Amino acid sequence: MKQFIIKKPKLFELIDKLARETTVIAPVKQENFTSFAPITSAAEIVWGAPQTVIPPKQFLYPQSEDLLAYEFGNGEARITGLNAVKERVLFGVHPCDLNAIGQMDRIWAEKNPDANYLEKRKAITLVGVDCLAPCSSDAICLRLNGLDPKGRFDLFLTDIGSAFYAEAATKKGEALVEGLRAPAKAADGKRLTAVQKKRTALFDKQEKKLLPKYKDLSKLMKANIDHPVWEERGKLCYGCGSCNMVCPTCYCFDVQDYMHVSLVKGVRSRVWDGCMTEEFAKVASGENFREDRSHRLRHRTYRKLNYLYDKWGESFCTGCGRCVKACLTKIVSPLEIANEIYSRKI
Ligand code: SF4
Ligand code: SF4
Repeated sequence: MKQFIIKKPKLFELIDKLARETTVIAPVKQENFTSFAPITSAAEIVWGAPQTVIPPKQFLYPQSEDLLAYEFGNGEARITGLNAVKERVLFGVHPCDLNAIGQMDRIWAEKNPDANYLEKRKAITLVGVDCLAPCSSDAICLRLNGLDPKGRFDLFLTDIGSAFYAEAATKKGEALVEGLRAPAKAADGKRLTAVQKKRTALFDKQEKKLLPKYKDLSKLMKANIDHPVWEERGKLCYGCGSCNMVCPTCYCFDVQDYMHVSLVKGVRSRVWDGCMTEEFAKVASGENFREDRSHRLRHRTYRKLNYLYDKWGESFCTGCGRCVKACLTKIVSPLEIANEIYSRKI
């Protein structure tokens, strides 16, 4: 990992230049919240932004995406595939979302590598910005190992006052700030440590404690498949699927075919889907494997804290807090569920 110091005005000039030359996507103000959107200058960026409603996964795995188009004619079928991929800089990504993208990189590259995701991912330069204070009152990132970005970026910036402390994990990250960086000195390192210490203390003060040990989460889930918490919380669920839609680590989709009425052409698309909705586990015969909302809540929580934890060695909740905010009945927080199970042993 290479470490540098970048003066703030220099970085803002660079962002302005990049925004003229390529697509730069960053958190911007939108009414009373922030969202990731293309910018034309650094002045539009909301630094230390509150959590965006929709995570940056939308630029790698859009809500709706045509996978292929087909057309029949002259006795043959013509199929066109992948959409053109553009170079983009994704700027101002919080550590929880960097971790989620790092997890998605592994998921989409596994077994049948998904070119639609991977090509977009290759064309993105990922610039993270550290959160110096909790971005949301619902954040649980410190507890769920999401606050440390673990090198899952090209470049990572921490505001240390008059300058940014920059860490480059890739050549792409180094190249991005070529010409405007200065080597980090021992005093800069000390300043960074002090900023991080203060930051961690703020998160520790605000975030609810995780009662079981992080490393025991999967074991706890496995031992409590019949815990009353599933039924009690599940009966309050609306089945709206909001918790799936806003989650940076939910990646389930539905594939839909749209045939034009002429029957000579059509498209195949994939759209976000979510395990909390009633239709998700319904099959052609009409059977629904998870008709009961409590089973769906348990399944979602198990995906985050048990199945994928066991498979990849870390929680697939990175603690962004979006689902906690989005859920109208306040039943879905993986941390609260784990705490409740831990405290009410059966
Ligand atoms: S489960 Fe909730 S808190 Fe965890 S990463 Fe998903 S949206 Fe964020
Ligand atoms: S847990 Fe909450 S957000 Fe998720 S489907 Fe149920 S009501 Fe909707």
